[in-house]
Amino acid sequence: MDKNSRVYVAGHQGLVGSAIVRNLAARDYSDIVCITQAELDLRDKQAVEGFFARIKPEYVFLAAARVGGIAANSAYPADFIRDNLAIQHNIIDACYKNKVRRMLFLGSSCIYPKMAPQPIKEEDLLSGWLEPTNEAYAIAKIAGIKMCQAYNRQYGTNYISVMPTNLYGPNDNFDLNDAHVLPALIHRFYKARVIGEDEVKVWGSGTPRREFLHVDDLADACWHVMQNPNTPEILNIGSGKDITIAELAKLVKETVGYTGEIVFDTSRPDGTPRKLLDSNRITALGWEPRISLKEGIENTWRWFLEYKWPVIGPNNNGNNGGMP
Ligand code: GDP
Repeated sequence: MDKNSRVYVAGHQGLVGSAIVRNLAARDYSDIVCITQAELDLRDKQAVEGFFARIKPEYVFLAAARVGGIAANSAYPADFIRDNLAIQHNIIDACYKNKVRRMLFLGSSCIYPKMAPQPIKEEDLLSGWLEPTNEAYAIAKIAGIKMCQAYNRQYGTNYISVMPTNLYGPNDNFDLNDAHVLPALIHRFYKARVIGEDEVKVWGSGTPRREFLHVDDLADACWHVMQNPNTPEILNIGSGKDITIAELAKLVKETVGYTGEIVFDTSRPDGTPRKLLDSNRITALGWEPRISLKEGIENTWRWFLEYKWPVIGPNNNGNNGGMP
């Protein structure tokens, strides 16, 4: 991938896509193509084909997806499976028809079996049952990985799938109900601080363990993968460390400066007990994470205060599409 290669980043308004664009721009890539959701509905096959035929990208980062936290995944499984299957099907096929040199597909750590041995290796894919709260999303992502592999087998393409662990950072969705745990907690603790609430409810028992990676570290890993023509077809990308949700809540509470109590709401689901990735494949390629969880939470908290809170304020759930 040269600095003047034409690179299409699908999903540039989201958490991952916006970080990939930041990374490429910082490296002086001069021909980054982005198109908004309003201009191109990626679920529309004909529209996607027309777009690819017109712009002829050489490299594609497929970071467009319908995403959400444990509650959103449980509440809208049909939306998650339908939209993700359509988006990835349209883009992967358009990459093939338009002779894209390399495509990188963003998967997720939730594709692995609920009870996979820890840390989870790439070869554990399809070795057991999935976590029911996000099964529809996971099945769609597994289909995307298998579609990339099938095209590689049959058509000789060079499509790569990366499996990021739980991500967070600027441009995330901070919705109190639909977001992932880290942005939801930043929002919830800050709202409680502003309103003066005595306690904050954290969902579940607080015992599940999660591994978190700042999205700028992920974007850097994606660039490394795209640069290296001989990577394995599937690569986990994680920080190598996990913590309990209770420990995470304490860290976020301290960063936000909330002084009330934390209460665990066990009527809410815990989801998978643990989800730590084995990232040896990607570290063997020369990439390593740089942003500690503490620094990353501070960075995300500052972004929330600067761009998000002024828009949503204390009376809003935060759901304005994840953008400032
Ligand atoms: P998951 O990794 O797919 O389960 O994604 P989430 O980020 O949605 O949830 C991770 C864990 O955090 C689960 O055990 C949730 O029950 C817990 N959790 C605690 N508070 C919250 C919250 O406010 N929002 C979300 N989404 N999860 C929370």
